[in-house]
Amino acid sequence: MIKTEKILHLKSCRGRKVRVVREHYLRQQVPCYSSLCQADCGNDGKVLPGDLTHYVFPDVGVVVDYLEILEIRELQGIVFTQTACQGVQHSKGRRQHNRLRNLLKDPRHDCVLFANEFQEYSYCPREKGESQEKWQTRCVYSAAVWYFHHLAGMMDVVMITEDQDAVAQYSSLNSGVYVISVQDFLQNFWPELQAAHELYGSISQALQEKESEGTEREYTEHLPAEVLEAGIKSGRYIQGTLNVSKHRAHSEASIMTEGLSNKNTDLSWGVLVCGGKNRNRAVHGDVVVVELLPKSEWRGKDTALAEGQGEDKSGEESDSKPMPTGRVVGILQRNWRDYVVTFPPREGPQPQSRNSQRILAVPWDHRIPKIRISTQQAEALQDHRVVVRIDSWESTSLYPNGHSVRVLGRAGELETEVQTILIENCIHVPPFSDAQLREMPVNSPEKPWRVDPAQVAERHDLRESHLVFSIDPQGCEDVDDTLSVRSLAGGKLLELGVHIADVTHFVTEGSLTDLEARARATTYYLADRRYDMLPAVLSADLCSLLGGVDRYAMSVMWELDAQTLVVNKVWYGRTLIRSSYQLHYELAQALLNGEQAEVPELAELGSEEKDAKLAQLTQALETLTHVARHLRAQRDRGGALELEGVEVRAQLDEERNITALIPRQPLEVHETVAECMIYANHWVARKIQETFPHQALLRRHPPPRQEFFSQLVDSAVAGGFTIDTRTNKALADSLDRAVDPRDPLVNRLLRIMATTAMSQALYFSTGLQSQDQCYHYGLALDRYTHFTSPIRRYADIVVHRLLTAAIDMDRGGGLGKAIAGNKELEETAHHINNKNRAAQRAQKISTELFQCLYFKERDPQSDQSCVADAVVYSIRDNGVLVFVPEYGVKGPVYVKNREGQVVAAGQDGSCEWQSGSVRRYSDHITTTSSCGTSTFSLFHHITVRISVRSTHCHADTLNLEVTSNKPHHRTEPPQPRSQGRSQLVQEVVRLAEEAAQEKAARRPKLSREEREFSQSKTPNLYSLLEEVRELALLDLQVDKQVCATTA
Ligand SMILES: [Zn+2]
Repeated sequence: MIKTEKILHLKSCRGRKVRVVREHYLRQQVPCYSSLCQADCGNDGKVLPGDLTHYVFPDVGVVVDYLEILEIRELQGIVFTQTACQGVQHSKGRRQHNRLRNLLKDPRHDCVLFANEFQEYSYCPREKGESQEKWQTRCVYSAAVWYFHHLAGMMDVVMITEDQDAVAQYSSLNSGVYVISVQDFLQNFWPELQAAHELYGSISQALQEKESEGTEREYTEHLPAEVLEAGIKSGRYIQGTLNVSKHRAHSEASIMTEGLSNKNTDLSWGVLVCGGKNRNRAVHGDVVVVELLPKSEWRGKDTALAEGQGEDKSGEESDSKPMPTGRVVGILQRNWRDYVVTFPPREGPQPQSRNSQRILAVPWDHRIPKIRISTQQAEALQDHRVVVRIDSWESTSLYPNGHSVRVLGRAGELETEVQTILIENCIHVPPFSDAQLREMPVNSPEKPWRVDPAQVAERHDLRESHLVFSIDPQGCEDVDDTLSVRSLAGGKLLELGVHIADVTHFVTEGSLTDLEARARATTYYLADRRYDMLPAVLSADLCSLLGGVDRYAMSVMWELDAQTLVVNKVWYGRTLIRSSYQLHYELAQALLNGEQAEVPELAELGSEEKDAKLAQLTQALETLTHVARHLRAQRDRGGALELEGVEVRAQLDEERNITALIPRQPLEVHETVAECMIYANHWVARKIQETFPHQALLRRHPPPRQEFFSQLVDSAVAGGFTIDTRTNKALADSLDRAVDPRDPLVNRLLRIMATTAMSQALYFSTGLQSQDQCYHYGLALDRYTHFTSPIRRYADIVVHRLLTAAIDMDRGGGLGKAIAGNKELEETAHHINNKNRAAQRAQKISTELFQCLYFKERDPQSDQSCVADAVVYSIRDNGVLVFVPEYGVKGPVYVKNREGQVVAAGQDGSCEWQSGSVRRYSDHITTTSSCGTSTFSLFHHITVRISVRSTHCHADTLNLEVTSNKPHHRTEPPQPRSQGRSQLVQEVVRLAEEAAQEKAARRPKLSREEREFSQSKTPNLYSLLEEVRELALLDLQVDKQVCATTA
């Protein structure tokens, strides 16, 4: 080993110049990470394959400016030099450097790190007078040459650089390494990779523009990092995440200081930042540092009803008193993501220049500022939605600069809009790659999958001993869970079993499938489609606990006292099952009710055998019901909440299309199954927490903040009810009592409000929380986790692995493999929580998209389906918030417009705009005009007309106008509302397909499979989930419903 000295003149990303002298050790052996290595390099981990046409060494400048291109998975054989990595760290900061590190770690990307500066023969010291850039380029070149010889010339090596002098200089050396520009590289080696070419074009354009930037200052400079840190420490500055107001994006933002120790209690509601100058180039989501303004300049939040408002968590924002107000003095961390923008239609004569044009593109998300894009395609991109990234926002520039990444399509088209929703929620669901699919077991008619004899020996075989069955919504295809119950010891004992799909048997930790599942974290359900977490061969076949076939399962089995139902012992382990019956809810309930019902599995049998089997099955269902009632009663005493229930279910035809959504009969068997799953989740939580007290993945539901209940409590009082929110038990009991016998909708609305006020349930690692913080408020359980749906939730996969490790330890096996530590598990939990929120948001927005597409086709003035009954659930200053049950729509209805006119109702209730005044009371709002006084009261029904407000650059929204302050009566008998809604999705899809067909000359019709990215043949039953969304915390009931739809 040779010791030398390395002197660096670095410019930190904050702009400071520093001289660093480092001791530097050189070695002869530095891993090359190529499978072609002839020198025993000790290549541990990811290596480059040998069957490529070339390896490529990007120069420092290329990695700094064009990392996005190198991130494209199709590009193979990339060798990142240590020189390039350090270059990125110094010129672009930690965030970009982390991106590069993640890329290197990710086995799905074919790239490695070569520590060239530690390799004795590839290291080159800097020469006197040599610029840093030239030296770095020389280092990368020297590394490429070394690499080429190290592999004995078996692989072509290409170096790419944007330094034209270097291209000329090194090309003449004939060292065996090709030195070319990025553009030449892409044209020669990847001529078909359109995405890379487009990205190159837009980034190089943006870089050129940057050089020609003006110098006039639009914003105050940000303070250096040291000053910010010192200021935060001394309490002069406050750190937090910038949250831009959705409804007043230009003027209003606040800093959320949550999770930071703020002694100043004034700041618990955050700090207000008003106007663009005070926001000082911070973008929604950035971590910023603010300085408070003098108290005389403090302001209050705007409280008038804004467009599209009505579902904010904080509910009533009547509080407009001045709050701490500040200005941004620096930014600690940019949290920029990919943004969808729309290129606005261009007005007036176009500049004739063929050079690039700078366009101010409008982001789809209201909270993001306009982004300046340089492009030569301004003409072609008009009215199109495009994915862009922000590059920089200098103090001399009124708007941030960015570049385009790819074009999604014309605004307003179904596919464009759905892709927009995915990108805006950071949901990345490409088709499963060939490499992932190669990891999957095969099950085809030629090569049917069979149970492995080695597994039979290891597993508890229940195929002969246990009557196992599943109960799911009709048409369910991916059966996560099955049940069994039997009597033991001559009837003194009961054995209850919950058997869950053994997904982790097929998905090895760290495999490509596992990484992809983790990245997705959940199956995504949109209005007309879904994106599975796992490939179909698992989710719909080998992991699905279908009837009559052998399947691997993870089981929990309790031995209970038959009388008291006290648990004697619990057994956890891997099993082999064969489900006898795939029941659906209605069938199971019919059997329980003693009604005549045909069980398909028994259809072929003789009557005697049939009766015997039927009796056995019915007996099992009855026992299950008995046990579940007991369990439910136990939780009820603890204060479990029954919130807004799911009340429709989908009916499918053979092609698995939704034919109808039928109002759900509240069947007891739903609760029975849900209760058993809750029980299993609870006992698995106990087991893994006991074995791994500092690193078990659990799910908690924090008690709600009392202030969020104010809207619920106030509305209830106005309606003549009392809601007690002090404990979950009090809340559950008072919600049960708050029933208006004339209008069941009132109770439903109160439950919706209660749900909205709730916190979200969250995954967490036990290492971080004290025992009392593990509590699940909604379910009234001291510990809870997710174990019962591993096919569509990654959390359950983690829990299955933990449970397996716990079982192995019980057997005295010790830990076969190290399990994730607390910190790592906490990161996983955080990631899954984020993805779950994204999934919920995407689902909600896609529902709204379909509602808008449905009404867009109709003339609100003449079409009767645009007129509907609505219930007032909240009173605001200039209007009311209503719920339209027929379409599941919530939104504001104004009684006063911008021109100052008010809604006046005539004798028959019909409304018109007149000049007048408005007055708000706690339980009603009145308008007074020359026609007299009109009243709109809480929980009263009114009639609204629904139309679409098109905004072009953003999502369309629904507009609700009151047409009468009396309930709406249809002339024809009303259809079941749910049916109306399923038609809504079908009709919109049909229209979109027709539109696509019209363009078929250019493009073939979209098949359903294509729409779903070949991932799933099943349309999604969004309507059901839309209701479920409001129940996000009611873990299990939801599970069962969702299963239907995932089917
Ligand atoms: Zn080697």
